[in-house]
Amino acid sequence: MSDIPSIELPSALIPADGRFGSGPSKVRTESLLELGVTGSSYMGTSHRRPGVRTVVGAIRSGMRDLFRLPEDYEVVLGVGGATSFWASATFGLIEQKSQHLDFGEFSGKFAKVVAGAPHLEEPDVISSEMGTHPDPVPNPEVDLYGLTHNETTTGVMMPIVRPEADGIVAVDATSGAGGMRVDPAQFDCYYFSPQKVFGAEGGLWIALCSPAAIARIEKIHNSDRWIPGFLSLQLAVNNSRKDQTTNTPALATLFLVRAQLDAMLEVGGLDWAVDRCARSSEIVYGWAEKSDFAYPFVTDSDKRSTNVATIDFIDGVSADTIAAVLRANDIVDVEGYRKLGRNQLRIAMFPNVDPDDLVTLTEAIDYIVERI
Ligand SMILES: *Cc1c(COP(=O)(O)O)cnc(C)c1O
Repeated sequence: MSDIPSIELPSALIPADGRFGSGPSKVRTESLLELGVTGSSYMGTSHRRPGVRTVVGAIRSGMRDLFRLPEDYEVVLGVGGATSFWASATFGLIEQKSQHLDFGEFSGKFAKVVAGAPHLEEPDVISSEMGTHPDPVPNPEVDLYGLTHNETTTGVMMPIVRPEADGIVAVDATSGAGGMRVDPAQFDCYYFSPQKVFGAEGGLWIALCSPAAIARIEKIHNSDRWIPGFLSLQLAVNNSRKDQTTNTPALATLFLVRAQLDAMLEVGGLDWAVDRCARSSEIVYGWAEKSDFAYPFVTDSDKRSTNVATIDFIDGVSADTIAAVLRANDIVDVEGYRKLGRNQLRIAMFPNVDPDDLVTLTEAIDYIVERI
């Protein structure tokens, strides 16, 4: 990376907003301004008092509306993000044995946490080539199926379909939730961190739980298994019912989630978001398919994520150089996921990203490639 060609993009090739990162992702400037305007009335006040609890309550009802949750589903929140939720699920959602679909860095991580837990049986781990996804395989010994709606590291999405089996369905939806269609009847626990599609900050997890998931949490809580209080899902459920979290949350994160939800619901909710992501993905994949030097990494078009595009480049056209030139022009975070080790760019197409900005981005890449 010592010699980045100095290419200054013409102003017509600079997107209005240059943030295309897959997480933390573009935060709406309007939400930040709205937070600033609260001045002394919100930030720095107690999370056990109405000011903050009203925001938590609005998140819980906003998620219910956005995902059209059945009346008996509950929205549960906790501190620590999806990674923390994996630990909580290991203690409080898996009874004995789980099955995990491993098709990228994130989906594999949950399986690794479970595999290390002395109180659980060895999990079933079903892997597939990077750029594809496996399907769950019903197994009568399995009491939790761990799916991933969108594998952020590879740009692969999978439809959420309940396997024909007993066992609850827990879905890591961290970069899918809010940008992809999902039927609540197909999951028991749909959990995510809000710094991807929801354009907020990290440090929080939100889980949409069916009655079966709530019952599972209660059953394990009442067993003799030791569960650290911080990771207890039962405590999270109890606190969420009071519009609180077990320990202190980041108030700005909560505010930004609420603001994002309001904005999404106002323009049409999940239908709007799904349409917008579909349009964006047509722009990016369509451009790559027509290009002489770029092509979508995921070969099966049905598995191509509408939220995160992974685009490979031919030998001789360095994705790293393109990313570095873009960065020098304030267009940031399109670098590929390192551990995949490909000559690749990764581009977020979350609802906050303007499809017009993606058009401009593809034009900017064409301009750069002509000159390197
Ligand atoms: C980002 C991401 C995570 C990790 O989220 P944290 O908030 O950092 O714990 C987990 N799963 C998926 C699919 C992700 O995209």
